[in-house]
Amino acid sequence: MANNREGIVIKNIDYTDSSKIIYLITELGISSLLAKGARKIKSPLRQLCQTVSKISYNQSASKKLPILYSGDVIDPHMYIIQNLEETSYVSHIFEIIYKLSTEIEFKILYKFLCQTLEKINEGVDVELISFVFELKFLYLLGINPAFNRCSDCDSKETTGFDVYRGGMVCSNHTTEYTITDTEFITGLYKLYYHNINEDFDYEINKVLTRKTIDDYYEHYMNFKSKSRAVLKQLYGY
Ligand SMILES: [Zn+2]
Repeated sequence: MANNREGIVIKNIDYTDSSKIIYLITELGISSLLAKGARKIKSPLRQLCQTVSKISYNQSASKKLPILYSGDVIDPHMYIIQNLEETSYVSHIFEIIYKLSTEIEFKILYKFLCQTLEKINEGVDVELISFVFELKFLYLLGINPAFNRCSDCDSKETTGFDVYRGGMVCSNHTTEYTITDTEFITGLYKLYYHNINEDFDYEINKVLTRKTIDDYYEHYMNFKSKSRAVLKQLYGY
């Protein structure tokens, strides 16, 4: 039987003495599957349960908790799972998707996630790749910042970026929270429009970018990442 579905494993939990339940991001949404016997060393399903793996698989038709019949690992993303920084950032990305993707275009998201994981797995700067993912994901959520006009009055003459106004602002609409550092703003703009297959040939203020994206998610989605706690110790921000 040919595998007819594909997904990224984002989580697995033990279920009974011998089985596991796995959670996947697919083109159709987030799904959970029962992997019978997957905790046994010799189970052919065992490798399909590995977090961060991209797999193809077959499942039963049942709607409640479908059973994982069989499958193949397309890419285990070895580099990611062997490195703490990469693993933590990928967990952070999974957490964002898992918590915020209620009404989202999963077909676009899935393709984008696959490209994102590929780049991280190739060893491209995981922080920058994550910034790109998080900024573009705001677009999928429908809360993307306005970059080409004042987010308040539509004026093209903008002077700063303001999380709480929803993007760029003109001189009439700056607040005490408006950031006017042009190098930072240019970097943020480039990250937002970054083509994931191209190199990062520009400077990024990582500390300020991290804070701005976090503030944005917290303000508009009431979201605070738990997965990045370990990274805060690593980076100091
Ligand atoms: Zn304005």
